[in-house]
Amino acid sequence: MSVSTTERQKCVIIGSGPAGYTAAIYASRANLAPVLYTGKEPGGQLTITNDVENYPGYPQGVMGPQMMEDFKNQAVRFGTDIRYEMIARVDFTGPVHKIWSETGHEVQADTVIIATGASAKWLGLESEHRLMSKGVSACAVCDGFFFRGQEVAIVGAGDTAAEEATYLAKMCKKVHLLVRRDEMRASKIMQERVRNTANLEVHWNTETEEILGVEGVEGVRIVNNKTGVKTELNVTGFFVAIGHKPNTDLFEGWIDMDDNKYLKAVPGRTLTNREGVFASGDAQDHIYRQAVTAAGSGCMAALDAERYLSEKGII
Ligand code: NDP
Repeated sequence: MSVSTTERQKCVIIGSGPAGYTAAIYASRANLAPVLYTGKEPGGQLTITNDVENYPGYPQGVMGPQMMEDFKNQAVRFGTDIRYEMIARVDFTGPVHKIWSETGHEVQADTVIIATGASAKWLGLESEHRLMSKGVSACAVCDGFFFRGQEVAIVGAGDTAAEEATYLAKMCKKVHLLVRRDEMRASKIMQERVRNTANLEVHWNTETEEILGVEGVEGVRIVNNKTGVKTELNVTGFFVAIGHKPNTDLFEGWIDMDDNKYLKAVPGRTLTNREGVFASGDAQDHIYRQAVTAAGSGCMAALDAERYLSEKGII
C-alpha cells in the first residue's frame, strides 16, 4: 500500500558504501543537505569483511564494519539525513528527478548520486557462507596479505581469477586455481601469466564440493567433474573470483549501462546520460573496485552535483 507523501531535496544519494558516505560528507559540507538511502545492506560490501589494512589513515588497520560506522558518523556530523530504507523505483525524466522508497514515499530531487555498489557472486555453498571472513574471501587484493606464506585456493576462470591468482602467488606458498571447464575465459595474456607462475597449479574440470573447517578454513574438497575423483587440498584460504554483479537493476532504462550492467559515466567524470544524475563507486567501476577508489569517485560525484546545481542557479 503506497503512501502518497512527497518532499523536495537538492541532493539524494542512493547507497551507503564508501562512495555513498563520501558523497554525503562532501555534499553536506557544501550545504546541499543531502538525504542518503542506505539500501538493504547498510555499509555495503565492507560490512562483510574483517580487517581492512589498505585504507589510508588507519595505520593499525580497522574492521570493515567499524570503518563504515566511521564514514557514516562523519556524514551525520555534517547533517546528512540517513534513511535505512531501500529505493524501489526511480523516474529520471528530469529536470526534477523522482525517487520512491519501498514504503511508497516520494522524494523529488534536483540531483541524484548513485552509489549502489556491486555484489560479489558466490558459489552458494553452506560452508562458504559460514566461513566468510574466516578464511573465505571474494577479494584477494583486500585479504591476500593475511595468507602470506600459506597455501590457498581460488575459484574462477576469468580475468579477475587469473589476476588474483597471480597476485596471491606472489605472497603465498602455493595457489590452487580451480577451473570448472577445460579452458579459461581469461584473456590470453592473463592465461600466459597463470601458466608462467611456478607456484600456481591449475585444476581443470574442477568444482568445489565443500570448504572444510569450523572456526577457519582448514581445507577444501574438490571433485573432477569428468572423472568424479575427489581430492582434499590443504589450504587455509579460499578465494571466490567468479564475477561481480553491479546493483543497478533499479536504473535499467534510465541510465546507460555496459554489457555487464555497470553504469556508464563520462570518462574521468561521474556524469551519466541523465542531467543531474551522477554515478559513483563500484556500480560504475568493474576495474579497481577498492574502498579508496569508490570513496574518491563519491567525492567526485558530490563535486559534480554541486557544480550542476550552481550552473542551474539552484544554489
Ligand atoms: P567473468 O564473468 O569474466 O568470469 C567469471 C568466471 O567465473 C568464468 O570463467 C566462469 O566460468 C567462472 N564461474 C562462474 N560461476 C562459477 C561457478 N559457480 N563455479 C566455478 N566457476 C564459476 O568475471 P571476471 O570478474 O573475471 O571479469 C569481469 C569483467 O572484468 C570481464 O569483462 C573481464 O575481462 C574484466 N576484467 C578485466 C581485467 C583486466 O583487464 N585487467 C581484470 C579483471 C576483470 P566459465 O568460464 O566456465 O563460465
